[in-house]
Amino acid sequence: MTNTTMGSLRELQGLDHRMREIRKAITGFDPLLAEVEEPALRLEDEHSKAAERLEQMRTDTRRLERNAADKRERAERLETRLNQVTNVREETAVKTELDMLSRAIEADEQEALQLMEQVRRNELHVDELAEQSTEAREDVLPKQEEYLNEREALREQLAELSARRDVILETLGTRERQVYESFHNSGREVVVAPLTEDGVCGNCFGLIPLQKQNEIRQAEALHRCEGCGVILTSEPEPEPELPEGSAPDDEGSDADGGEPADSEGP
Ligand SMILES: [Zn+2]
Repeated sequence: MTNTTMGSLRELQGLDHRMREIRKAITGFDPLLAEVEEPALRLEDEHSKAAERLEQMRTDTRRLERNAADKRERAERLETRLNQVTNVREETAVKTELDMLSRAIEADEQEALQLMEQVRRNELHVDELAEQSTEAREDVLPKQEEYLNEREALREQLAELSARRDVILETLGTRERQVYESFHNSGREVVVAPLTEDGVCGNCFGLIPLQKQNEIRQAEALHRCEGCGVILTSEPEPEPELPEGSAPDDEGSDADGGEPADSEGP
């Protein structure tokens, strides 16, 4: 158990603390990005629904126009027949049918006219919405880009820390690495804690037997607290070695295992 090993374990602990904070900050961008995009999404949704309704109206108008055209054709055929009728009864029947047909044609045409008027009004509405949603989308872009850039910067920072973490893990002995990883994987934040001058564990404050205290102070082997399981060291707290861009308020909180402050958070 060398000083270097203890230093490495502590650096790992510090890195993991920092990485947890950064991951939290990265996740924090999700709701912000959703919020900033919301007005544009809402208008785009409104626009696409209005455009769909408009398309339906156009289809309905075309259908009505086709119906009217069919009926006019039928009326023409009836007119021809009217010239060929041989008795009054037949004439009356054809005339009645023609009357009904022209009323139906009139109704279809009336309806088509109304629909076309609606189509015209809706075209204006859809155009307005298209314009509004384009503007809203443009308004969103700068803030969205800012957030995305900030998040990307955090991801890069995380990748750097992760690479550094791998390097440190490589330098550890198998046993130390196993202890550290099993702690870390079980979600514990404090793996290494100082043995205080009073001879208690710096994490759980349980008293450490004198014999063990001496061994820890001589740094002969890896010793763990019987109370909480952390690796104990008599080395003083290292100066925090934080990467560039770290928030200054993180200093000195690496080994306390407290909740990471939301320092990078948007
Ligand atoms: Zn302890």
